[in-house]
Amino acid sequence: MNLRDLIGQHFRLADTQKSALSKLGIKTVRNLLYHFPTRYERGGEEAQIAGLASGQEASIIGTLEKLETKKGWKSRIPMTEGFLRDSSGRIKLRWFNQPYIAKMYAEGTLVKAVGKVSGSEGKLYLANPALQKISATEAGLFAEQKQLLKKSGLPASGGLAETGDPRTFSEAVSAKPDLFAIYPESRGITSLWVRSAIKKILTPELKLEDPIPKEILKKYNLPSLSSAIVWAHQPKELKNAEAARKRFAFEEVFFIQLALGRERMLLGREKGFIIEAPQNDIAAFMHAFPFEATGAQKKAIEAILGDLRLGRPMSRLLEGDVGSGKTAVAAVAAYATVATRPTNQSFGTLQVAYMAPTEILAKQHFDSFIKFFEREPINIGLITGSGCYKFPSKTDKNKITSISRAQLLKWVENGEIPIVIGTHALIQKTVQFKHLALVVIDEQHRFGTSQRRSLAKKHEQVPHLLSMTATPIPRTLALTIYGDLDLTLLDEMPPGRKKIITEIVKPAERKAAYEKIRTQLQTGRQAYVICPRIDEPDPDKAFALQAKSVKAEAKRLKKDIFPEYALDILHSKMTPKEKDAVMLRFSKNESDILVATSVVEVGVNVPNATMIMIEGAERFGLSQLHQLRGRVVRSTHQAYCFVVPESRGESTAKRLTALASAKNGFELAEQDLLQRGAGDLAGRKQWGISDIGMEALRNLKLVEAARTEAQKIIVEDPELSAHSLLATEVVAHTKVMHME
Ligand code: ADP
Ligand code: MG
Repeated sequence: MNLRDLIGQHFRLADTQKSALSKLGIKTVRNLLYHFPTRYERGGEEAQIAGLASGQEASIIGTLEKLETKKGWKSRIPMTEGFLRDSSGRIKLRWFNQPYIAKMYAEGTLVKAVGKVSGSEGKLYLANPALQKISATEAGLFAEQKQLLKKSGLPASGGLAETGDPRTFSEAVSAKPDLFAIYPESRGITSLWVRSAIKKILTPELKLEDPIPKEILKKYNLPSLSSAIVWAHQPKELKNAEAARKRFAFEEVFFIQLALGRERMLLGREKGFIIEAPQNDIAAFMHAFPFEATGAQKKAIEAILGDLRLGRPMSRLLEGDVGSGKTAVAAVAAYATVATRPTNQSFGTLQVAYMAPTEILAKQHFDSFIKFFEREPINIGLITGSGCYKFPSKTDKNKITSISRAQLLKWVENGEIPIVIGTHALIQKTVQFKHLALVVIDEQHRFGTSQRRSLAKKHEQVPHLLSMTATPIPRTLALTIYGDLDLTLLDEMPPGRKKIITEIVKPAERKAAYEKIRTQLQTGRQAYVICPRIDEPDPDKAFALQAKSVKAEAKRLKKDIFPEYALDILHSKMTPKEKDAVMLRFSKNESDILVATSVVEVGVNVPNATMIMIEGAERFGLSQLHQLRGRVVRSTHQAYCFVVPESRGESTAKRLTALASAKNGFELAEQDLLQRGAGDLAGRKQWGISDIGMEALRNLKLVEAARTEAQKIIVEDPELSAHSLLATEVVAHTKVMHME
């Protein structure tokens, strides 16, 4: 068996299993080996029904009887009931809102049920137990194990072997498991299936070559690949499983660091445009701003201008809270670029491409740039899906003019338009620049060397890159995903901003909050209302989020609370055109209240919107809440944020209080990581990091170790010629990172 073989080559799969595997992202044998358990269970922990007591968390093996779904006559919530029987008796099972359960399990199915024992003596039941089908052999194993444990007098958990795992690989893979791995499941692919599939793969003949050099494993006390694979799936001890997880976490961060480090090294060899504008001109350009740059802006500008002079392509990330003034910094970099002539040319200028994630933002940057460049005699272009524009117009030098796409592309190609703003399409095939020297990317997470090199292929050199983000991320994550970029923080807000008033709204205070909003609406301000869902939950779907939805809440607000105001809705299921139209209406103040999902998170700027109400606030991460709140700090008017939690738990209250008091987004991002774990970091899906890799981010030492080792290898062996296995991994990771 080969690790790159497709699963289908070795296992006969039903269609449901095929689709479940693809949902879980498992294509190859290797993918399956890297599908790690979420937890482990010990065979000896099963309880007997006869001895259960209320309040206890129990795991019981038995057969299902008489499952049946009814609608609660009062609540109309479907309720499923039935029984679980083992040799000692039977207990009632009860589920709310999971009507499919009765259909999924036939009478007499052998399962393991895990749940909380509820009810009073004589009327005990298991509430919402999780069920897992098991085979008779497995049940036998559990029983056998229990006997063994009883005989040896050892406790059911821990204590079997104190140090390491004395088994050899082949002993381990042919042994009966002590701990049972429980995997993320999808319909058709149960933990049982994964366990037996992995058992079939893990034979003594299987060759697992370790790409990580032995010295590194030794230095950090990490298990080899073959041990780690066995320990992850069939551990003898929980601590073996933990050692395995640590290795895979290290491995992932290490590969990413190698891939990024290599990109950085390759880029360092490229020639970059030398951009040098006279100090006086830069000072004059900044002097014309309607404000004095903050200290942080000045520092960032200095760093960028320093990079641009070096003759190597710049790779810099500018990270600053919403409203910290990143656009002005980008404008100075753009100014320096367009003030520089192409080499060996006595006319024309170098060019700038400024990319924004949405049309509406591109349009906003276009307007800002027109103001910043008011005194400069240069053309600025805007390319969007719905039209192309140029400033200034030929006939009126204070006006924007609409032009054809073909015309704009021609002027970009011959260099007559030095600054072009647009969406991602801006750097794609059809757009040719004459001297593209600087690429500015706003709120776009990754834009790597290979993309820049492909741009350079069309052009003369690799352009400088200024990437900008307001997504506050913890340091470990920044080191990991932006390992190839130099980092500058804009950690100072422009002066004169009023501090946003953040209120946590209790149910009894909801009315008062609406009245405060109304008072502001009456003075002409606008408001956002954020809901966690788009639609009402589907009553037939289990686990559906019982949270406020954009559509229903908009209807309710219009009917009961704000009939006199114009409401619009915005959510991710709308087409880009619809979204843009809604945002345009809102930015022109043609609608007063925008009821939306968290899609408004990304950099939309409507200075007149000074209020935001966030429903179901505990469902969002702290940094996400901070981002949302950032929507209303754009102006000098007093801004308000009303945070409305659904539940009143203590941890919710604590988290939300942190939001009210925190100074900046970075502080909140670190808190998110500690309190909720990496899985909840906003935007995590886009980074292409697995769950286990994300776990590593809580461990700064591990991330730094992986980074140090990766850098050492790149310095010693840039082509990775002595590390052919590593080279393969690096290629694979480079590909993942650039899947946008
Ligand atoms: P972001 O960092 O979120 O992209 P922007 O660049 O959109 O922020 O700036 C937000 C607002 O602050 C803009 O209206 C901008 O003109 C203004 N601004 C930027 N820098 C300063 C400054 N130093 N002093 C006062 N206002 C500023
Ligand atoms: Mg911005």
